Amino acid sequence: MTSTNPYRPGRDHTSRTYPVIPPIYQTTTFELDDTSYADIQGTGGLRETWYSRFNNPTVDAAAAEVARLHGASRSIMTASGMAAIATTLLTLLRSGDTVVASKQVYGDTDDLLQRDLPALGITVVRVDAFDTAAWERAARAHGPAVLYGETLSNPQLRLLDVPAVAAVARSVGARLVVDNTFATPFCTRPIELGADIVVESATKFLAGHSDVVAGAVTTDDEELAAEVQRRLITFGGCMDPHAAFLVWRGMRTFGVRLAEACSAAEIVATKMADEPGIDHVRHPSRLDHPDAGAVVDAVMPHAKGAMLSLVLAGGDERVLAVLRRLRVGVEATSLGGVETLASVPFNSSHFNMTPEQRLDAGIPPGMLRLSIGLEGADALVDDLRQAIAATAHDS
Ligand SMILES: *Cc1c(COP(=O)(O)O)cnc(C)c1O
Repeated sequence: MTSTNPYRPGRDHTSRTYPVIPPIYQTTTFELDDTSYADIQGTGGLRETWYSRFNNPTVDAAAAEVARLHGASRSIMTASGMAAIATTLLTLLRSGDTVVASKQVYGDTDDLLQRDLPALGITVVRVDAFDTAAWERAARAHGPAVLYGETLSNPQLRLLDVPAVAAVARSVGARLVVDNTFATPFCTRPIELGADIVVESATKFLAGHSDVVAGAVTTDDEELAAEVQRRLITFGGCMDPHAAFLVWRGMRTFGVRLAEACSAAEIVATKMADEPGIDHVRHPSRLDHPDAGAVVDAVMPHAKGAMLSLVLAGGDERVLAVLRRLRVGVEATSLGGVETLASVPFNSSHFNMTPEQRLDAGIPPGMLRLSIGLEGADALVDDLRQAIAATAHDS
């Protein structure tokens, strides 16, 4: 396309062929034609590319890739994981409705469930995520519109029995929404296991480089997707094209990154299990994992995830001392990057609980959470060993 009109700049590119990589369409708006007007008047402008809060080709490229990773028909990109979660829940719930939600959820999701949804007249009933009978009892007693849980919990790394909870949802006519951020579609594809909608923080493993905040909503239900998209348009949590490019680019290596990180996590888990100074290792690859057997086989049949929790002898003070001595792992919140990130639940993700509440939630003193990166298992094992040895006198 060539133009010599000075009022239509940027159209004189010389390439005759297509770019290999999707361009960043850093534009808010697109020229209108008869097809755009027909879509605006026909669907409210959901399909056509005409304004970037509705649709943008770079954002669409990222969405298509997330959907492909899930083997699902449709993904919608959002400004953050929380935008994905809040927009989805506010699409499915209205005043007078009930949501049955897991007790073990991400901190800001917990806030949304405890404070924001009740303020809108939505009843929130909490259950132990790993007790299928509890989901069933709550669903029968309350007739919820939505069941909500996380496929892999933080930092206990317990698995939601997605096929069983999906069956409960179907039996009461509710939708099952799951947050798959920790597990990722590399390890589990919840739509194939019966979930209606998957919400994810693409900030973490999907984008994978700790450089962009982003989210995604994925479903096989076109009507539901259109409903979520309509709320995203009115609530405004859309993804920026530049962020979409970073997410798309990160996902180019999703498979190889996750294969390496999951395999390294399993090796580190195995080696650390027998290490002096370590009381317990929690990883879904371990035979002493509480969900080992049927649930792990159904929900995470192949790779077992890149998240790992260690419980150190000597409690939280020891774990803080170990954290500060790490040379490879970085002391930081978040997960899913190229670099291994180490954090301690008691002073970050779960600081607002009492020690008793943490214990009740399966977070004992001395628990260290690791998001395994790409440094290689040997470097990480050596790093943990030197940090644990250097703090041996502390315990
Ligand atoms: C980080 C995270 C979120 C929130 O995602 P943002 O991209 O930070 O908004 C939600 N759920 C889980 C499990 C997370 O780890």
